[in-house]
Amino acid sequence: MTEDASFIVPLLQWFESEAADLPWRRTNDPYHIWLSEIMLQQTQVATVVPYYEGFLKRFPTVADLASAPQDDLMKLWEGLGYYSRARNLHAAAQQVVASHGGHLPRTAADLEELKGIGPYTARAIASIAFGERVPVLDGNVIRVFSRLFDIEDDVRQTATKNALWARAEALMPHVPEGRAGDYNQSLMELGRQVCKPRQPRCLQCPVAQYCKAYARGKQARRPVKTRKPPTPHYDVTCGLIWNEQNQLLITKRRDDGLLGGLWEFPGGKLEDSETLEECLARELKEELGITVEVGELFLKVRHAYTHFKITLYGFECRYFSTAQAPTCYECAEWRWVNVDELSAYAFSRADRKIIEALHERPNRLL
Ligand code: SF4
Repeated sequence: MTEDASFIVPLLQWFESEAADLPWRRTNDPYHIWLSEIMLQQTQVATVVPYYEGFLKRFPTVADLASAPQDDLMKLWEGLGYYSRARNLHAAAQQVVASHGGHLPRTAADLEELKGIGPYTARAIASIAFGERVPVLDGNVIRVFSRLFDIEDDVRQTATKNALWARAEALMPHVPEGRAGDYNQSLMELGRQVCKPRQPRCLQCPVAQYCKAYARGKQARRPVKTRKPPTPHYDVTCGLIWNEQNQLLITKRRDDGLLGGLWEFPGGKLEDSETLEECLARELKEELGITVEVGELFLKVRHAYTHFKITLYGFECRYFSTAQAPTCYECAEWRWVNVDELSAYAFSRADRKIIEALHERPNRLL
């Protein structure tokens, strides 16, 4: 065994005794593991648990998921964010049923052929569910490796990432037989629980004696990362468009894009040199071909996504039945609904805040 790999056995022993008891760790079912890996992308463990359990209750098998209407899926996913994950999961379940008899393929290479499964997720599923000896490299593992091996290069650079992959591959043959999945999970768990981004708990660390950054007192300066550019911010408008029956107009986004497949209050992004009201009037014309009376600002909502932030301005609008009927030029579908019916549709978190405010308002009429 090379010196580099000495940490593996103590790490596995620590994982056996200290790993958090999570529902997807109590199963070998590849579908359950797949679902957990998709939900855990970009989302905290504590947030995922109730979604994971609710999802499996509603769709106990891949076939149940494949045959479900997409709207049911989106509704269950509501609030978890990154909705393309739900759409891809649905499409992949249909691929699994159509091409693999309802059983997930057993290798990372074959798993990568499924919609929404990238190299990281394919490797995680293949190692955890099927024991394939393939490493994973997520943010947690990168941080642990950069400290264990005291890597001085910028981990955002492709060359450094490639070197990390090579190191991860070279370590794999040293993992005891049948433990590839546990090893991958133990690295991620160490990163989550002990080797945290800020203030790593080196005194409680099961691999401290093998950690080069700790030995050199450099753990707080690893991983080395170049500064990120500031997060962009966008002003976005939307219309709470009421008809004469006191119903609201909602539209369904097309399937592409970050929030694709979700319902929304129609509107869009502010362009240079226009007012918020002008922006909304233009967007409604472009999206639905309608002209409405833009009224008072109802609510301003701030929301942060991973790569950008928005301020959403929701305006009261009045639609008269004598006006031209809406036509979906830039949406998948539109509907008039009562406020009480909104909960049956899947909306983004920002729109959900508007809905909450609508419910709290005693008089819903303009
Ligand atoms: S000793 Fe500290 S820096 Fe090194 S792996 Fe453990 S927690 Fe991370």
